[in-house]
Amino acid sequence: MRTRHACAIRISIPKDRLHLRVDQAQVEAVFFSFFRNNRGKNEAIELDHAAKGRGQKMKELEERIRREGAILSETVLKVDSFLNHQVDTELALATGREFARVFGDEKITKVLTIEASGIQFAMAAGIALGVPFVYAKKKKAVTQSDKLYVAPVHSFTRGETYQVSVDQRYLNAGDRVLIVDDFLATGAALVGLVDIVRESGAELVGVGCIIEKSFQEGRGLLEAKGVRIHSLARIASMKPGEVHFIEETGNRQLTEERA
Ligand code: 5GP
Repeated sequence: MRTRHACAIRISIPKDRLHLRVDQAQVEAVFFSFFRNNRGKNEAIELDHAAKGRGQKMKELEERIRREGAILSETVLKVDSFLNHQVDTELALATGREFARVFGDEKITKVLTIEASGIQFAMAAGIALGVPFVYAKKKKAVTQSDKLYVAPVHSFTRGETYQVSVDQRYLNAGDRVLIVDDFLATGAALVGLVDIVRESGAELVGVGCIIEKSFQEGRGLLEAKGVRIHSLARIASMKPGEVHFIEETGNRQLTEERA
């Protein structure tokens, strides 16, 4: 049985500020953290689910890719101003809430990513789901144990192959894992993480990506392995000055041009 707590919130707004426009996402964030602190994890997640549907912030993600993204070639998108170098923390937290909304019924026990650019998004998802996150390391540190899950990963942006590893203590057969990363491109990084999850005996619930370049082979590779994928922004094609997104509308997929 659920325990109900009485609570009261007093909000004072000076008369001269009454015309203030309130951003819906900010209100959601305040209420989300209030209920999290006061009513426990499950109810907080329920509350977040109540704001069903793809949030305003996910629209903002597409807008910012269009506005701030530098398209270096037909395959490389630079989003250093808000995702990959400087990070918009509120947007990052919103991506975590979106993954929690999409995968929230899956009883996830752990989020897995790969260093470095997946970390802030895995952390956001971990916070929203109330579970720890683990990041696979690209280089072996002296502090690391010898009991590791290891997979080779070829880096699309750096042109190098890494042996990525996860300490066996942090991924177990009882875990239900959501993998999160910033980009899905050739799929090499995510296929490596999928192999690590499977080697550990844990259950892979799915993969969440912030940006998917759907014209590259990553999605196909993962789907061939039976992996459920949810990407927050799916790019059908791009060239300098132009990004074409794929939008999911019910069962239909529409490609919408945004010049
Ligand atoms: P993969 O080719 O294995 O799917 O991509 C691996 C990693 O390369 C991603 O996690 C991301 O960090 C990086 N990456 C791939 N494509 C792009 C891109 O177009 N822009 C940026 N900034 N990073 C990318």
